[in-house]
Amino acid sequence: MQYKCTTPIDEIRQMKKEIRQMKDAAYTKLICKPFCEFYSEGKESLLCGTYKYVRDRIGAPELEHLTTGEDLKPDFTHERFIKEEICLRCDFFADGCDYVTGVHSPPCGGYRVVEVLKKKSYL
Ligand code: SF4
Repeated sequence: MQYKCTTPIDEIRQMKKEIRQMKDAAYTKLICKPFCEFYSEGKESLLCGTYKYVRDRIGAPELEHLTTGEDLKPDFTHERFIKEEICLRCDFFADGCDYVTGVHSPPCGGYRVVEVLKKKSYL
């Protein structure tokens, strides 16, 4: 017997969109917990642009391999790329990310991860 899905396609698309708007525990463990000074538990629907950028391009096991043991202190080598290609589309940018708006503040953890992956020519 063949299973036939009766859920309307628009409803499935909406569900997929909502899932993409939630943090994935594997990436949170690799990006936010070790590298983001602004991370706090329980805010699973708050995703910065760099988090989404990495999640959508690199599998979690590969990301773990690429970042383990790395010193992710940013040196802003790829600042222009990150700001123009990612930060401008980030929800926190719209809300006034202190780093991007020039307030004395470090960037988020995802920024650090993107920077190191760019240096390794992985992104
Ligand atoms: S540095 Fe700020 S604007 Fe850029 S991705 Fe991180 S939170 Fe978003």
